[in-house]
Amino acid sequence: MKKIIIAIDGHSSCGKSTMAKQLAKEIGYVYVDTGAMYRAVTLYALRNGLFPEEGIKEAELKAAVEAGKIQISFQFNPETGRPDTYLNGEKVEDEIRQMAVSNHVSPIAALPFVRALLTQQQQAMGKAKGIVMDGRDIGTAVFPQAEMKVFVTASAEVRAERRYKELMGKATTEEEKAALNFQEILKNVQERDYIDSHRETAPLRQAEDALVLDNSHLTREEQSAWLLAKYQEIVEKI
Ligand code: C5P
Repeated sequence: MKKIIIAIDGHSSCGKSTMAKQLAKEIGYVYVDTGAMYRAVTLYALRNGLFPEEGIKEAELKAAVEAGKIQISFQFNPETGRPDTYLNGEKVEDEIRQMAVSNHVSPIAALPFVRALLTQQQQAMGKAKGIVMDGRDIGTAVFPQAEMKVFVTASAEVRAERRYKELMGKATTEEEKAALNFQEILKNVQERDYIDSHRETAPLRQAEDALVLDNSHLTREEQSAWLLAKYQEIVEKI
């Protein structure tokens, strides 16, 4: 069967990655989480003191990017059945999901030189097709020619609730659990929506030819079934 490119875009924490990963597994495609790539660059900036009070040290970050000091890769983890994200050879999968990174990622993702670097890497990953890529600008900027585009959304409250539960599930100590605050998570989701939709380079927007999925009231199984059915419809026509 002909391999295609599947672009899944949408708002923060709307379950894109879960459904994209599931679809990739079902149809034997490679899955790429582009948000993890922006998160890894953010982690690099945080670790290297490039986020002082007054804003990002852009020139230093740019120099690091140009010198190839930020190498991002993925390695499939057979235990979780998902790819783990690596930054300069170190597994950072858990660290990039923490609130410290979530709170700083959108301004990093708005920098044109960061977008240029990651877009180029993402396009290279999709050369052979057979890929499910999720992000904000996959159907509009990375692969405007993708054969299948999906735009996923849900209300900010529903998304914050899901993120809260996910982080609670991952917290291992009572202290970590007590530190989680629903209002803070909701604020983060709303702020990221705003910055992602209003930046100049490749803002989050629905591609004209995208299929829209509002999953506020759908279960994971219902979403996955919907996505698989759409994929089958599309490949049959090619
Ligand atoms: O998908 P996730 O929430 O992990 O993405 C983290 C952040 O990375 C987003 O809020 C957005 O600022 C940025 N991002 C982006 N373009 C992508 C993927 C993510 O700007 N293709």
